[in-house]
Amino acid sequence: MKVSENLERVQKNIDAACKRSGRKSEEVNVVAVTKYVTTERASEAFEAGLTHFGENRDEGLLNKWEVLKDRPNWHFIGTLQSKKVKNIIDKVSYIHSLDRLSLAKEIHKRSDKPVSCFVQVNVSGEESKHGLSPNELKDFIIQLKEYPNIKVIGLMTMAPHTEDEVFLRKCFRKLKRLQEEMSQLNFPHAPCTELSMGMSNDYMLAIEEGATFIRIGTALVGND
Ligand SMILES: *Cc1c(COP(=O)(O)O)cnc(C)c1O
Repeated sequence: MKVSENLERVQKNIDAACKRSGRKSEEVNVVAVTKYVTTERASEAFEAGLTHFGENRDEGLLNKWEVLKDRPNWHFIGTLQSKKVKNIIDKVSYIHSLDRLSLAKEIHKRSDKPVSCFVQVNVSGEESKHGLSPNELKDFIIQLKEYPNIKVIGLMTMAPHTEDEVFLRKCFRKLKRLQEEMSQLNFPHAPCTELSMGMSNDYMLAIEEGATFIRIGTALVGND
């Protein structure tokens, strides 16, 4: 399938989910996750009109950056080892996986300007998932004040792989509630207005529950 055809279908689904939940389609930013695909396929996605790109490894990001440069907005969406920060920091606009102070410290040190970050939260409580537990979140965000190059624009979660719509909605709602709580603290370093949630299999639910950034690989560019 051409990316343009996939995008048309995904955009229709986004529009429908927005309509169902009384939201505007412009509120939802699509991050094209290109981690599974070639640089050629990523270029096709750019030609199709996608402007936000997500990668979960420094190598993949650097390979695609060589070709697309800073024309798209680059998002780092995966677990980020502190020692890799220096490789990607001048190339990314967003980091979705901030989950520990040592990482915040390294981002602060390596960047020469504030970086838009999402704090990753494990709302499902699954052992395998990265992220802070909800009850650690507030203290963590307070401590981030020490690192002025970290700007907490929102929260991110990875929902479990399940068809259980009720459970998925519960996870997304929980993240939305935490985001509102953090935003109401009015910390200048943590406006926390955004919600990064929803992937190929659950993005419509995520939008209905308030997602402002959805991260889509398989349904948009494929996974081979
Ligand atoms: C791979 C990945 C995605 C996209 O997954 P799809 O199911 O292919 O849409 C989204 N977010 C993160 C953090 C990922 O690692």
